[in-house]
Amino acid sequence: SHRVLIIGAGGVGRVVVHKCAQLPEVFGEIMLASRTKSKCDAIAAELKRPIQTAAVDADNVPELVKLLKEFKPEVVINVALPYQDLTIMDACLEAGVHYIDTANYEPRDVAKFEYHWQWAYQEKFKAAGLTALLGCGFDPGVTNVYTAYAMKHHFSKIDTLDIIDCNAGDHGKAFATNFNPEINLREVTANGRYWQDGKWVETKPLEIKRSFDFPDGIGPKNIYCLYHEELESLVKHFDIRRARFWMTFGDNYIKHMEVLVNVGMTRIDPVVHKGVEIIPIEFLKTLLPEPGTLGPDTKGKTCIGNWIEGTGKDGKFKRYYVYNIKDHEDCYAETNSQGVSYTTGVPAMIAARQLLTNPSEYRQPGVWNVEQLNPDPFMEDLNKYGLPWVETWPTEPLPGE
Ligand code: NDP
Repeated sequence: SHRVLIIGAGGVGRVVVHKCAQLPEVFGEIMLASRTKSKCDAIAAELKRPIQTAAVDADNVPELVKLLKEFKPEVVINVALPYQDLTIMDACLEAGVHYIDTANYEPRDVAKFEYHWQWAYQEKFKAAGLTALLGCGFDPGVTNVYTAYAMKHHFSKIDTLDIIDCNAGDHGKAFATNFNPEINLREVTANGRYWQDGKWVETKPLEIKRSFDFPDGIGPKNIYCLYHEELESLVKHFDIRRARFWMTFGDNYIKHMEVLVNVGMTRIDPVVHKGVEIIPIEFLKTLLPEPGTLGPDTKGKTCIGNWIEGTGKDGKFKRYYVYNIKDHEDCYAETNSQGVSYTTGVPAMIAARQLLTNPSEYRQPGVWNVEQLNPDPFMEDLNKYGLPWVETWPTEPLPGE
């Protein structure tokens, strides 16, 4: 069995730790390290088996390297924030450790959602004989695996890809975000973008709105077209004419968001307040409920899936919709976390399990987006470890097409 270091004791970190702890035959030794050690200890106390915990500043490469050399993990699962991706990758290179994350690197000053910083590590990881698996949450992550799976088994050519992310959960609060508020708000308030005919088409924030009738009793919800990072790697690795990403937002969420944007509370540049520089969105994060605390009260389901149209293996037109439905309360009962953290943390654990136990496919030296690897074992693990998927062949086009 193997040694794994999980960095980041937030909502996603909690799920990764719980899921890894459930598989002692794979994850023999677990350490959870984060900025605040007491948060790691609180998570450790929820488990049936002991794990180690540590404080680490993941912005600090020497500090990370020291921890890695002491604990000697084979793989790091980075579920801190996107700002820490490069420092953790640097530390992994220096200490000879494989690397997994769930979100692409972002500089603090501009929200970009681009992979080039991490793709630039390709040669370094190759030369070191190490593997970096990027974007192994749900979206990015499972949505990339769904696309690879569709391409491998059902399509000879994908014409259109629509990734549709629905959180039909209700946390009972006037306003809260389901994962890190700063990342969430940066994502939603940015201009939208989708891929069409070989180039990006830009939209205003939340400019394109449709209604989609979600399965399993969720019913119709408003979905908004926005940019999401997996689009960049998917259109690089597959020939797709049009690729879009949609997310549901309730009217109440939009109303709060509009006010916050209009008054400047989502700004990511520093402003001087009483002689102190503050970044408004960071201050807002201090005021909002921590996503990790929403778990006990969140009811309802998440539904994330890929709607794909194109030419099937038989040369005929095909329309395919593959998705997962997850119930927030089930997630909480199993891992003390709501569905958004759960659907991100489980794939991160699966990526680590594959890397450790399926080296010929998941431990090739270099930097990989998960759709570049064989999707079949990942899809099997999704069914085994809590995120079962459903395949359907819709007869009607996407609403609005
Ligand atoms: P949280 O804010 O709940 O947790 C982040 C954790 O990282 C916190 O425990 C925080 O510590 C810790 N941290 C932050 N900075 C540092 C640092 N410099 N050194 C050490 N630890 C640090 O976020 P989530 O759990 O919701 O999200 C985790 C990651 O997952 C994010 O990168 C997010 O973008 C990604 N994500 C990916 C999704 C996907 O589907 N692919 C979906 C949802 C999230 P402290 O508590 O002390 O501040």
